[in-house]
Amino acid sequence: MKDVLILGGGPVGLFAAYYAGLRQMSVTIVDSLPELGGQLTALYPEKYIYDMPGFPKVLAKDLVREMAEQGLQYGAEVFLDERCESLAEITGGFEITTLSGRKLQGRTVIITAGVGAFSPRTLGLENEELFLGKGLWYGVRDKSNFAVKNLLIVGGGDSAFDWSLALHPHAGTTTQIHRRDVFVAHEDTVRQVLASPVNLRTFYEVAELHGNGRVEAVTIRHMKTKETERIPVDAISVNIGFQADLGPLRHWGLEIEGNQIKVNERRETNRTGVFAAGDIAQFEGKLRLLATGVGEACTAVCYAKTRIDPSAHAFPGHSTNLPPPSRSIPPIQR
Ligand code: FAD
Repeated sequence: MKDVLILGGGPVGLFAAYYAGLRQMSVTIVDSLPELGGQLTALYPEKYIYDMPGFPKVLAKDLVREMAEQGLQYGAEVFLDERCESLAEITGGFEITTLSGRKLQGRTVIITAGVGAFSPRTLGLENEELFLGKGLWYGVRDKSNFAVKNLLIVGGGDSAFDWSLALHPHAGTTTQIHRRDVFVAHEDTVRQVLASPVNLRTFYEVAELHGNGRVEAVTIRHMKTKETERIPVDAISVNIGFQADLGPLRHWGLEIEGNQIKVNERRETNRTGVFAAGDIAQFEGKLRLLATGVGEACTAVCYAKTRIDPSAHAFPGHSTNLPPPSRSIPPIQR
């Protein structure tokens, strides 16, 4: 059993892991996404953040990399692609069970679940699931899946444009479709795609998927004229965003207000030993920002420490007075 189970590997969860390590507490981090970084990784990896102390400007993905290095340096155990479903009290602490059936135990729990578990937005087609992993993917996990004759990229945001640029040199033809003619992507990336061999078609959506066992063709539909067209396609990368869902956390006996969990000044919820910080936590004067979220993580960890060891001070002392960490970083488990 670890000292702290951190539910959510976003920026606030990563800072909680760092602070817990600093306070000599063992840590497990669990996240439903395949990568660390929460909203920064899933929603805006290529955007600059200007309001983090010490960084006049920093790309979200670069900040995540630094925060992960800082957060995991004390040897936190990390489980990705694991959505937390239930929280039970057990002797000496808590047990979280994930969707895959994995059971994780902690003397205390810190919930840094942001706006809830993310899942990719789907095309909403009847036979979509049949083709998952068989020519159809949400985002791009393995670039080699897209080195095909006819590639289709769906979406008009940063991810869609970035993948068009990165993948078209490896595909015979690349078509990118988007439902509108307005793009939510970096201007320079859009310019580069327009100047590339990518066939960018606006006002189109996917209407049907065809294939015998795997994707072979797609019917696209014009949003205005409703005219359809069947095009040969061997691989599709869908990049139309993510949706978040508080889901099972609503039934964990926590005091919920809207989509947030109520906490006190120690960032402890109504369940003793269960804390919350970051976007998910609600208290008077709350601001949903990175700078304030990481401060909440620090508070939550320091009071979790006093729950485990009542003789410990909540105030951690100054990090400048501490020796450097010596433990090695274990591999991330997926
Ligand atoms: P999140 O980043 O949401 O991370 C929560 C993690 O918990 C996620 O990885 C999620 O998968 C995981 N999780 C949730 N439920 C479960 C579950 N049941 N099981 C397992 N895992 C779960 N803030 C600023 O301060 N400055 C900015 O410039 C800024 N720009 C932004 C731009 C955009 C486009 C957006 C969308 C937000 C921006 N924000 C900004 C807000 C900032 O990103 C959030 O405040 C921050 O991400 C909150 O961090 P968090 O760790 O609390 O939550």
